[in-house]
Amino acid sequence: MSRGAFPDPASRFDSVGFSEIVQVRNRVLERLELGETVWRFEGGEPYMPTPQPIKDAMTRALARNQTRYAPSSGIPELRTAIVAKVARRNGIPADRENAIVVNGGMHGLFAAFATLVNPGDDVLVFSPYWTPIVDVVQFFGARPVLVSTAASRAEGLFRTLEKALTPNTKVVYWNSPVNPTGEVFTRAEIEEVSRFVFEHGLAVISDEAYEDLIYEGEGHVSPASLPGMEERTISVFTLSKTFSMTGWRAGYVIVPERYRSAMQTVVLYSINGVSTPTQWAALEALSLPDEFLREAREGYRRRRDRLAAGLRAAGFDVSAPRAALYLFPKIPASLGSDSRAAAKTLLEGARVATVPGMVFGPEGEGHLRFSFSVAEEMIAGGVEALAAFAGKELQAR
Ligand code: PMP
Repeated sequence: MSRGAFPDPASRFDSVGFSEIVQVRNRVLERLELGETVWRFEGGEPYMPTPQPIKDAMTRALARNQTRYAPSSGIPELRTAIVAKVARRNGIPADRENAIVVNGGMHGLFAAFATLVNPGDDVLVFSPYWTPIVDVVQFFGARPVLVSTAASRAEGLFRTLEKALTPNTKVVYWNSPVNPTGEVFTRAEIEEVSRFVFEHGLAVISDEAYEDLIYEGEGHVSPASLPGMEERTISVFTLSKTFSMTGWRAGYVIVPERYRSAMQTVVLYSINGVSTPTQWAALEALSLPDEFLREAREGYRRRRDRLAAGLRAAGFDVSAPRAALYLFPKIPASLGSDSRAAAKTLLEGARVATVPGMVFGPEGEGHLRFSFSVAEEMIAGGVEALAAFAGKELQAR
């Protein structure tokens, strides 16, 4: 019997990459398996465990047998709590029907792009950007059009976005606070973006993964809180960073009425709802007192400042960002400007793991990303290893 040929994977994968951050992690894991010490700054997770009340809520849900199918867009209690949260904290007007529970921010973003973009559409993406976005845009056959964040902040967002506009532009992907730079766009900048999208009849996908991790200055501003923007913004939130719940896979979106049915269909056919006990735990997370976040932010700020000081001492030119979990310094001249090569040199020479800036787009080249959301001993050890490495480099010259 002839075995015949095999069909190829779907052609959409021809242009979709697989996150390079995962490849960095794999290289680190290989070294750890060999018994080597690695000072790990390549991650992107909260440093503390999930708060106990959230875990207890999951246990209670299991004991009560809250383990059956739930409505695919989420249990009503959680959707009600989400609407109250976005009204109170984000100033986003929404009805319960417009809140959909999703399987983390990644899934919320995937569903948002599935809802809005057609093959051939253009999506404006500020760069550097969170790596998966470009792949997700391409997965749906749309084209990411990169807009330099630095240039647009210097020259004005409205002007820069207008220059990048094409007849096919449909969506602006908005991420503030920004992964990887920790920048926070100002209210005035968001107003410019809103003027731009109104003028050109566009939609916004707003990725607010780090909304609660802003350490000083002006707080988080949700685009959908601006007048009329709630009609053209899909706001994507996650419990991953705020509540140290990266592995739980829980998030939510607020979707305008116009796109609601499409998005509910995507969620139905992709996951048919987030695991029911996880939703009860998410409800508990949203009811935690604000005090919890104040304490968490203190811990992040302390780590940020320690790592920034350590990197400066080791020859990096770095300023402490206002938000998120990362430092994104320029690579010191002694390490060259190729971020892949520099990350490799640091991993091999100092056992310090970082993410090369170029994985966040061409505007990230020349930088390395360090997560400061790690144990304080990791910061102490890593900084020492970097200083020793910098010392050897100087002697070698
Ligand atoms: N958006 C940004 C900017 C992120 O950095 C991340 C996680 N690193 C996410 C969304 C998605 O996170 P999750 O899927 O864990 O909710």
